[in-house]
Amino acid sequence: MKTDSIANLDIDATRVEGMILALGAIGAHSGTGVCRTAYSPEWVAAQDLVAEWARAAELDVRFDAAGNLWARSEGSAGGKPIVSGSHIDSQCPGGRYDGALGVLAALIAISALKAEFGAPKVPLEMVSLCEEEGSRFPSAGFWGSRAIVGKITAEDCITVVSASGETIGAAMADIGYEPAHISEAVRDDIRAFIELHIEQGPILEDADLPVAVVDAITHIRHTRVTLTGQSNHAGAFPMDIRCDPMAGFAEVVTAVINHADALGRPAVTTVGQCIPDPNAPAIIPRAVTFTIDARHPDPDAAAEMYRTHDSILAEVAARRGLTLETEIQIDHPACLSDPALLAALDRGAEAAGAPTMHMASGAGHDSQQMAQICPVAMVFVRSEGGRSHTPEEFSTVDDIVAGIRVLAGALYDLAY
Ligand SMILES: [Zn+2]
Repeated sequence: MKTDSIANLDIDATRVEGMILALGAIGAHSGTGVCRTAYSPEWVAAQDLVAEWARAAELDVRFDAAGNLWARSEGSAGGKPIVSGSHIDSQCPGGRYDGALGVLAALIAISALKAEFGAPKVPLEMVSLCEEEGSRFPSAGFWGSRAIVGKITAEDCITVVSASGETIGAAMADIGYEPAHISEAVRDDIRAFIELHIEQGPILEDADLPVAVVDAITHIRHTRVTLTGQSNHAGAFPMDIRCDPMAGFAEVVTAVINHADALGRPAVTTVGQCIPDPNAPAIIPRAVTFTIDARHPDPDAAAEMYRTHDSILAEVAARRGLTLETEIQIDHPACLSDPALLAALDRGAEAAGAPTMHMASGAGHDSQQMAQICPVAMVFVRSEGGRSHTPEEFSTVDDIVAGIRVLAGALYDLAY
């Protein structure tokens, strides 16, 4: 039934659930999970199914040179499109919702708007991106979105390899893509990008809310640290003259974690890897190598946190007579959402009658890449138990429909 109000937009919960299950059946793994790696037969089948749904909704469908799937609802005023979508590849095994939900949400929102209100003024496009996770090609995270923003070359198709040594270019060629042409996936005509994604954490559940408007993606920095001292006998060498890197390591871990605790949410710091050398019960180690993963979405607060870590490391190493080496292995600055898109999402939430909160994303997303060419923002849907990257990942269909309504409300606000 036609309506003149976005509040009554027809989003059929049963159909949404059916689409999630149909997509989840492709590459089904461990009962409720999926294993759908980039350019695999399962990935091709999933892209084809989404393309079929998009054609049925009378959208213009095409695949770009990287394999990203686009579906467009042409705008009466022409010009640059507003794009929504996410990735369709998964961890192996991952859940049914990570990435795939953002693809379906964009498709359902754009189709419902077109069915209800006709063609938009501003063109709307759905995109289903490939290889966000890096689960088949570990160094190819954000492959599809990086191709769109011009960060992938034909050379990368030869140098990027899977764990078994296969090049990503060969995997592309196997399913009919030409790696030499990947730069043709570049776009410079996107007006804005909005990505819906599951939260992958417990904050919405904690707040008893179905949906969040994401105002930033956190700064993430991985630092690899080596503290080197002197290896000696664990029994014969007195404590007061040891040069023990493990003792320094223990102090550093305590200090950096206590610092994040003291800062409070959304600061997080994790020491997830520690390699003593040698790694033996009766030897004072010669060296300890470990990682510090530290994240904060506020640029000033992140900078202050990293300065504090540097001074903790320098102080502990100097006092204990240890040699300190550090290497920053990953450094992705915070990606702040565009204020105009945030306002549109807030209005969309109000129109949809969906209670929301603002929060930062602690995980990385394709939106960070897209931010290099256009304004971006995100919508999060509550994850049961905060679970993700596991077959147990789950969001209720009611929460999903609420998220789609918020997205559709914002797209209506911006494009109609
Ligand atoms: Zn994802």
